Amino acid sequence: MTTPAYPEVQLFIDGSWTPGTEGQSLQVLNPATGEAIGSFAKADKVDLDRALKAAQKGFETWRKVSALERSKLLRRAADILRERADAIAPLLTMEQGKPLPEAKGELMTSADVIDWAAEEGRRTYGRIIPGRAPGVQQLAIKEPVGPVAAFTPWNFPVSQVARKIAAGLAAGCSFIVKAAEDTPASPAELIRVFADAGLPAGVINLVYGDPAEISSYLIAHPVIRKVSFTGSVPVGKHLAALAGTHMKRATMELGGHAPVVVFDDANVAEAGKIMAGSKFRNAGQVCISPTRFYVQDGAYDEFLDTFVASAKAVKVGDGLDPSTTMGPLVSERRRLAVEELINDAVQNGATLVTGGKRVGNTGNFLEPTVLTDVTPSMRIMNEEPFGPVALFSRFSDFGALVPEVNRLPFGLAGYAFTRSSERMAAVSDAMETGMITINHLGLALPEVPFGGVKDSGYGSEGGIEAVEAYLNTKFVSQVGR
Ligand code: NAD
Repeated sequence: MTTPAYPEVQLFIDGSWTPGTEGQSLQVLNPATGEAIGSFAKADKVDLDRALKAAQKGFETWRKVSALERSKLLRRAADILRERADAIAPLLTMEQGKPLPEAKGELMTSADVIDWAAEEGRRTYGRIIPGRAPGVQQLAIKEPVGPVAAFTPWNFPVSQVARKIAAGLAAGCSFIVKAAEDTPASPAELIRVFADAGLPAGVINLVYGDPAEISSYLIAHPVIRKVSFTGSVPVGKHLAALAGTHMKRATMELGGHAPVVVFDDANVAEAGKIMAGSKFRNAGQVCISPTRFYVQDGAYDEFLDTFVASAKAVKVGDGLDPSTTMGPLVSERRRLAVEELINDAVQNGATLVTGGKRVGNTGNFLEPTVLTDVTPSMRIMNEEPFGPVALFSRFSDFGALVPEVNRLPFGLAGYAFTRSSERMAAVSDAMETGMITINHLGLALPEVPFGGVKDSGYGSEGGIEAVEAYLNTKFVSQVGR
């Protein structure tokens, strides 16, 4: 296998790639080998000030471009992204770890998201409200919010950026994106796609550096009118508080600890395979990853057996190896965090049915792991594992299970399997989550809402809601004289 060249990633400010004013750069590690593969430029205050100025100028330009022309440019970007997917996918795998087909899939999904936003941006309709007096015209008009500061994570380095900028650009906003420092090259390639599609200078700017320094500076700055963050609950709460202090609109897409309810009337074998496929995708580093499995007594043994067989069939390895079905965790920090949660559970009485250990002694590989006999007091039943770990419990009566399903402050995704329409209705009514999918994997399509409740955040990054999140409503009342 020939390894593609990994770029020296630069900042993108006001339409130009730049090493940053102070010329500082930081290393990028390949999670499969632990080796340094490249570097990225670190932004300082001077760079951020330049990006803010550019975003303001970019907004003034972009908001005046018609919705139709914006839509055409977005479509062009989606097409270029599809053309370049084979070239970008290996970079994504080298910095993030996921198997090459998953990396390519992420790029193609991102192109679909951009196409959806291109269509939806042409429908940012306002309305005319009947006046109370003759001649009074009352208009509700949709306007772009303004320059946006967007903070994105490393688990889907391209599609997390694409979801934010596609919707925002379609609405007429400009951006300063701070993508994840663990995975800087693939989001930079996404930004290059938009630049090559003809986006005017300043409309998108990309920076890297110290996340806390950058976010506190940008969120407080008067140029920025909206904050969008995807990442952990503690950081999300911190950024939401900053956004509140400075009265900025905010979208928060935070962590989850998704419950799965498997009833005894389900197609149990199929459910086991579907859920194992979903659990080990991206090594479990997915905010909607199924995590707490509650299986009814009559289905428990068959579901567990099918799931464990699928877990054992997972081929862990370097994502560039075509036989690999699960790559490493993104960083040593994440591997150690997941191992710590597994060890804590086992020390407190959980049974390790399969997995639980590091694979090899280079890279951040972890075995697909299944734990049974877990209890609500264990850390892993309360903290998001964000790794390849499934936690199994049994239940007999769904009504009695509901408080346990909803016990955690998270409320992002939920899953259920049953053939009974009554049970489907009961589950979708009872689960305190922003999204529920029953008997299949139906989440995260461009045209459907995507977002959480409770500590999992607020706002939606899919469907018509995604574009709405970048619009203000202005009211105009006029009478001809
Ligand atoms: P983290 O909270 O330190 O970082 C998550 C992301 O937020 C990173 O991209 C990081 O650069 C960014 N970040 C951190 N502090 C920031 C700040 N002050 N301002 C702006 N951005 C900031 O966590 P981590 O160790 O990278 O991952 C741990 C947890 O993060 C996971 O367990 C998971 O809960 C969560 N996470 C969630 C998602 C998601 O899709 N919702 C994605 C990645 C990580």
